[in-house]
Amino acid sequence: MFRKVLVANRGEIAIRIMRACRELGIRTVGVYSEADRNALFAKYAEESFFIGPAPAPQSYLNMDAIFEVAHAAGAEAIHPGYGFLAENSDFAKRCEKEGITFIGPPCDVIDAMGDKIAARKSMKAAGLPVVPGTEEGIRDVNRAISTAEDIGYPVIIKASAGGGGIGMRIVRSPDELAHAIESAQSVAKSTFGDSTVYMEKYLEEPRHIEFQILADSEGNAIHLLERECSIQRRHQKLIEEAPSPVMTPEMRKEIGDTAIEAVRSIGYSNAGTLEFLYSKGRFYFLEMNTRLQVEHPITETVTGVDIVKEQIQIACGARLSYTQEEISPRGWAIECRINAEDPLNNFVPAPGKLRRYRSPGGPGVRVDSGVHTGYTISPFYDSLISKLTVSGRDRKEAIARMQRALYEYIIVGVITNIPFHKAVMGNANFRKGNLSTHFIDNNNIIAEVARVVEAEKEKGATLASALGAEDRKVAAITAAVATYISADKIQK
Ligand code: ADP
Repeated sequence: MFRKVLVANRGEIAIRIMRACRELGIRTVGVYSEADRNALFAKYAEESFFIGPAPAPQSYLNMDAIFEVAHAAGAEAIHPGYGFLAENSDFAKRCEKEGITFIGPPCDVIDAMGDKIAARKSMKAAGLPVVPGTEEGIRDVNRAISTAEDIGYPVIIKASAGGGGIGMRIVRSPDELAHAIESAQSVAKSTFGDSTVYMEKYLEEPRHIEFQILADSEGNAIHLLERECSIQRRHQKLIEEAPSPVMTPEMRKEIGDTAIEAVRSIGYSNAGTLEFLYSKGRFYFLEMNTRLQVEHPITETVTGVDIVKEQIQIACGARLSYTQEEISPRGWAIECRINAEDPLNNFVPAPGKLRRYRSPGGPGVRVDSGVHTGYTISPFYDSLISKLTVSGRDRKEAIARMQRALYEYIIVGVITNIPFHKAVMGNANFRKGNLSTHFIDNNNIIAEVARVVEAEKEKGATLASALGAEDRKVAAITAAVATYISADKIQK
């Protein structure tokens, strides 16, 4: 086993990885930027090194600085977490060159799956159904128009090197196509450094369902069931659950078995996720993520597998420690991404200082977070405050538990999306499992969020005015109503 691992990431995921290392008896090396000098993850690591200014290109994406630390500290392996360098094959290649193990798949597989057009081709060849679309990058608008006629409108134009839901263009008629291609190409070039775009059939009202895969370097592969991630804003996930309410054991076996064959066929090892859209009873391969996912805790919760420990052991050359037969769902898990963002203002990030922070606890609650009272959510990075995962014996119990846990959350000082999560958990369609990637619009969730916010403000104001100055603070922080009370109100 490795003696020392460097974690090239920050926040909750850095802590998550270091936790796995501690359990495996591995020493941890943290790296932090100027903005993260006092961050918990930097303190959690046994050794921590400053690597540069707050902007990611100068710190968390600065390979020279990271390798310098890795050598100085004597780290034998690097875990990249998610985001930053996690799907950067140059980074994986450089690890190899520098004699440090990259905790992730081989670099040629990262390359192959990072190109979505190539990924679609190889997954199709391996027997997975893909969303109908172009086999190559779009070069000629007239050809694109005839392809769109063939597959039928609406279509979606996407960046081959894309990620994070960025730069997609939905096209409903031929006269919009040329402009959509141009604009997608320009966003692709400026965001991903590659202007290649391709076309897919735009599936109306799909569900996003993905399979977690684990594979070792001996060619053993298993899947850890599916996750449903249909509750999204701007094509980005906000709530995930496992298993999926629409999954049947037969469908799971069929897609799961094919997915395993597909990852074997490309020589995959380590953890990865095959993403699918599900529409009218059918699955369509969307893309493969060659890294640990944000939403991995729900899978850990329903399967009992510690995915990060498996990743580290596999990277060290060990065999998978589970067989497929040992994997079956134990109850239900739901994750809410608690972000500093304003659901009433198009979910814009709302970074700032946490005046009060207390996370929920009790049975079936898992919190992955790197924040504390007094911590500042930095505008330089994503606005994630914490990942709240709950489990229950069935979906109904998991939802009730999530509602209870959301009620217990106390976050004062920044606007959060907790009222959004409360609105979704109370929604009749959500409770019935009627989900789609358009859930928020279809269910008028934002109007419900506004009602939740108003009710919370009222409750907070009533409590505050009924109490003296000191008690007012207490009221604001102990009542779960505090989530939407601005800092200045309780600081009085
Ligand atoms: P990214 O890598 O940028 O996250 P994905 O290909 O994974 O992009 O898609 C992200 C989300 O965008 C999906 O979960 C879905 O909501 C939407 N989407 C992508 N492709 C399609 C499609 N062909 N039809 C309908 N929705 C799509």
